[in-house]
Amino acid sequence: MYYRCIECDKTYPIESRNYRCECQGLLAFHHKTNRFDFSSLRQCPDWSLWRYRSALPVFDEHIIDSVSMHEGCTAMIRLEDHLYGKAEYLMPTLSFKDRGAVLLACLMKSLSVSLCIVDSSGNAGTAIAAYCARADIACSVYVPESTSSAKTLQAESYGATVHRIGATRVETAVRAQEAVKISRAFYASHVYNPIFFEGTKTYLYEIFEQMDYRLPDMLFVPVGNGTLLFGIAIALQELFAWRLIEKFPLVVGVQASQCAPLALRSAEEVCLGTVAEGIAIAKPPREKEMIQLMGMLHGIFVHVSEEQIVQAQHQLGLKGCYVEPTSAVCYAAYRTLIETHPDFNGLTAVVPLCSTGLKTLH
Ligand SMILES: [Zn+2]
Repeated sequence: MYYRCIECDKTYPIESRNYRCECQGLLAFHHKTNRFDFSSLRQCPDWSLWRYRSALPVFDEHIIDSVSMHEGCTAMIRLEDHLYGKAEYLMPTLSFKDRGAVLLACLMKSLSVSLCIVDSSGNAGTAIAAYCARADIACSVYVPESTSSAKTLQAESYGATVHRIGATRVETAVRAQEAVKISRAFYASHVYNPIFFEGTKTYLYEIFEQMDYRLPDMLFVPVGNGTLLFGIAIALQELFAWRLIEKFPLVVGVQASQCAPLALRSAEEVCLGTVAEGIAIAKPPREKEMIQLMGMLHGIFVHVSEEQIVQAQHQLGLKGCYVEPTSAVCYAAYRTLIETHPDFNGLTAVVPLCSTGLKTLH
């Protein structure tokens, strides 16, 4: 296992505390994976994302056993005739971020980290705080002041110290990075540390297994910093390389119109603010990579209005799924695509229901 700079190819050992290359390039994670044998799952008694253990980064078994809360294996709920919602709000900390957080905590535990710092719009910080509690690692979480108090209270309940920063999400990250530099704590970033995406890739493995070793025609994914998008992209490339799929489904990256640096490619780094706080990222550090990845996958970016997001959240509630606004953007996008492109009617699709609506109660 090692990191490699995506700009200059310089490699760094997994023990490295560098979260960027000396050239300032961002890091990718590399490890040896063999073709995963999905047929072995029929006898697998482990109903968590660790059922795919041989395709995941390698950690000591007792570290995994002590840190894991059996996250993963979330339900697929039929929402419409051809549409399924993957209920990621059923995770131990009530959001999909547990997939990456558990891997990051296992990495830190195996490196004997005692203190970490993380910046987040809420859910990632909360998830990392929980798994740090499991791993006996002190955790400081930096969030923008606008973050829902339900999320910060949840992080504090796991023993984390929460710093509310009166600034944007981007500036909050800068403050966290300054604190990392001073304290020499581990930077447990779900954006910079690419091992996080090795966890989020299991989202797609699960869909593949749950749909009887096929994928839907369309995969919708909310895009802020891209933590789920990168995981999906890794898994799609693996399944393709292992000859388990012959082509990629249509990947639809969804942003809020009020903060859509990728969908609108606005030259201005402006984020007007959106109810979808989990994807209110004006300048994602991995923006260039996301554009390249979506080009490779032939995916598309779309954006949805505040009104459409709120309406979609309401409609999901009437289907029994109470999600936060960020988790409703994909359903809003699905409805819009179906209505404006009748040829998409009849195609199977999956939207992630990333986190519970209880997370945004003030
Ligand atoms: Zn470099």
